[in-house]
Amino acid sequence: MSAKTKKAKPVRDLLFGNLWEYDPAPETAEPHISERYQLFIGGKFTAPRSKKFFPSFSPRDGSTLAEMAHANDADVDAAYQAAAAAFPAWSKLPGAERGKYLYRIARLLQDRAREFAVAETLDGGKPIKEARDFDVPMAAAHFFYHAGWADKLSYAAPGKTLAPLGVVGQIIPWNFPLLMLAWKLAPALACGNTVVLKPAETTSITCMKFATLLLEAGLPPGVVNFVTGAKETGAAVVQHPLAKKIAFTGSTAVGKWIQHTLAGTGKRLTLELGGKAANIIMEDAPLDQAVEGIINGIFFNQGHVCCAGSRLLVQESIADQVLAKIKIRMRSLRVGDPLDKNTDIGAINSSQQLDKITELVASGSAEGAQMHQLECALPSQGWYFRPTIFSGVTLSQRIAREEIFGPVLSILTFRTPEEAIEKANNTAYGLSAGIWSEKGSRILRMSTQLKAGVVWANTYNAFDPTSPFGGYKESGFGREGGKQGMLDYAELL
Ligand code: ADP
Repeated sequence: MSAKTKKAKPVRDLLFGNLWEYDPAPETAEPHISERYQLFIGGKFTAPRSKKFFPSFSPRDGSTLAEMAHANDADVDAAYQAAAAAFPAWSKLPGAERGKYLYRIARLLQDRAREFAVAETLDGGKPIKEARDFDVPMAAAHFFYHAGWADKLSYAAPGKTLAPLGVVGQIIPWNFPLLMLAWKLAPALACGNTVVLKPAETTSITCMKFATLLLEAGLPPGVVNFVTGAKETGAAVVQHPLAKKIAFTGSTAVGKWIQHTLAGTGKRLTLELGGKAANIIMEDAPLDQAVEGIINGIFFNQGHVCCAGSRLLVQESIADQVLAKIKIRMRSLRVGDPLDKNTDIGAINSSQQLDKITELVASGSAEGAQMHQLECALPSQGWYFRPTIFSGVTLSQRIAREEIFGPVLSILTFRTPEEAIEKANNTAYGLSAGIWSEKGSRILRMSTQLKAGVVWANTYNAFDPTSPFGGYKESGFGREGGKQGMLDYAELL
């Protein structure tokens, strides 16, 4: 893909304006995607010592987009050495100076918003309207937010001095590649740490493009290093002796392995893992709004969302009505080419993920739940799955317990608020939840009883850089976003 990139109009005046606003229509931009990407170590694109590369596919049509370097232990070591060498100067910079770099990164990302949105959609399969209106502007917003903190760290913990930790290792998943990179990099850099980051193996392209943006921003070499690869590369990032902290977002199984591996090492760890959120609809809820929230809660990003509202708990008295409304609303969803700006549900990120969704959906039918699937044509190539809902689900069924990470909703019913809380908390996870009700007092009471890190009321999937995000139980620990998330990157002295 070597067509010219259509240059987005520079947006320089947004610093104090609406960060979410920029010239839309990114679907007309054609990002430059190289045939081969090296590693980004010490401010340079570096051939992998492993000499190995692996293909990165486009979920949209299954084609090979690029070859990514497969970093081995020696590559990961080189990245850590570069980050350690950069740490003394970077951590001693006055916060205001570090903040300037973060502001510059945020503005450059806005300038290149179209290019990044299209690349993110090609690489990950998400609808272009989501990459354009959510992922890219939110990523920029995280850099703006933390840029603002960089010279105000002494106010973050009054009476204490904040010291950076050193080199931090960060591992991110494939569902929001650019946004997760921003969630991880921005607070680490604001506090004066240096970074070795590994993107997920199916979605490394926007990360490597981001390296070019860091060069444009003039970030000192070694402050941020990117190593691409799969699980062995991730394991090397986790186990490297120079890492003072590991920040991981991904599956619960890998999170548990990391926790075991780091036990007793004294390294800091934050884990953001899976979820099986309850989206609770009380009988007094504004139903049309709630249906929009249900649809957004489960179908946003094809359901590849750890906080997806994947268990709908609906009060029995309105269950039939809500199911009928969901079915009608589903008929207007467009499934198809992620680059089409009218697409609501794009491609499934990988063939492995498509297999996993297919298997879990088959288990739902086999275990006796009633399946309702949107009847629609799917593109002949690429990886796609029809939006699916199950009614008559019970808590013992796999589709009510396991994270599907796809466009699949399990509907359960309840009679009383107490039963709703009991069912909502009856899960190994505890990342997020939603409550829909007209009564504020009920929302407040129920939200304090839910064992979930984030509880949305009369909305769902609402994000903001100022608001901490994270889980309980098998959803992990530590927070990202807000002051709380940033403090996880500092020593309080
Ligand atoms: P998923 O099942 O959703 O793909 P994973 O937890 O396997 O989630 O992947 C999330 C991130 O963790 C990816 O960047 C992946 O390469 C990385 N990863 C996978 N296994 C390991 C491991 N053993 N140690 C460290 N990182 C890993």
